[in-house]
Amino acid sequence: MPPRTIPGSSGRPHPLRLLGDPALTAPCQEVTAFDGELARLIEDMYATMYAAHGVGLAANQIGVPLRVFVYDCPDDEDRRHLGHLVNPRLVETDGPVIRGPEGCLSLPGIEAGTPRHDHAVVTGYSATGEPRTVTGTGFFARCLQHECDHLDGGLYVDHLTGLRRRRALRAAARAPWAAGAETSGR
Ligand SMILES: [Zn+2]
Repeated sequence: MPPRTIPGSSGRPHPLRLLGDPALTAPCQEVTAFDGELARLIEDMYATMYAAHGVGLAANQIGVPLRVFVYDCPDDEDRRHLGHLVNPRLVETDGPVIRGPEGCLSLPGIEAGTPRHDHAVVTGYSATGEPRTVTGTGFFARCLQHECDHLDGGLYVDHLTGLRRRRALRAAARAPWAAGAETSGR
């Protein structure tokens, strides 16, 4: 058997784009070239996700406006799901809607109870253009829905309402990484 390489081991971590960065709110473009540049992007995305101790990362979180995400995420049974999807499409969400803790590398240190379906199916392609179908339940289904939202220019806080939304946005505005924090006397 050929030696298996660890995803991200040849990648370079990039700085993360944070809430308020326009890269996070613009919908991403479909990938059209399954080439070495795409393979390098995916390696860099794994490296960035691991460096930031995340369970998922979308390309626009490092400022690349392409429909790609990577994940290394447990489900509620503690099964590990590791992989990436190019041009993903959320084709099915069902099961009960569960409000559970959710965070994002683009809003570091903040978490909020966010409603998500318990089951999700996403289709897409591998780095080399092979079709893939990824099915998730529990926390991994949450991750799949979260990453698909990113590629459409969305953030998990868009799913919050009322007090939960106000609390999360207030915490983000006060966070040390918030835009304008350097002018607030910190
Ligand atoms: Zn996120």
